[in-house]
Amino acid sequence: MKAIDTRQYKYRNPAMTFYCPLCRTERAITVRPGLKPLHFVQMACVTGFLVWASWSLMGLGSFIWFFIVWGIFEAVLRATFRKEVPCPHCGFDASWYKRDVKVARKLVSDFWEGKKEPPAPETQQKSES
Ligand SMILES: [Zn+2]
Repeated sequence: MKAIDTRQYKYRNPAMTFYCPLCRTERAITVRPGLKPLHFVQMACVTGFLVWASWSLMGLGSFIWFFIVWGIFEAVLRATFRKEVPCPHCGFDASWYKRDVKVARKLVSDFWEGKKEPPAPETQQKSES
């Protein structure tokens, strides 16, 4: 007898788990879009350092670093989240499905196109004489 293994051994701390609506694989996403309190602590540390480093040059203006650091944190978080959303087994992208079903369908078909054709253009059998 073979039991179905549903343990999440690949993801230590999933922010959310769900089943892929297309291929029924159990999925887990480790990051959430949106900053957590911990991120603000990290941002404060990075900003504090940058303000300290540029204080002699920029004075109070060096607090602009806070907004730059914030922007970077947001961008990285969003990029990480978006990378984790598409299903690695069938290419289904839930974030696109919400916005545009046509795009989501195209992503899935592109995914399978890529699987069908192995990237080996010149290694086919040719008469070697
Ligand atoms: Zn899937």
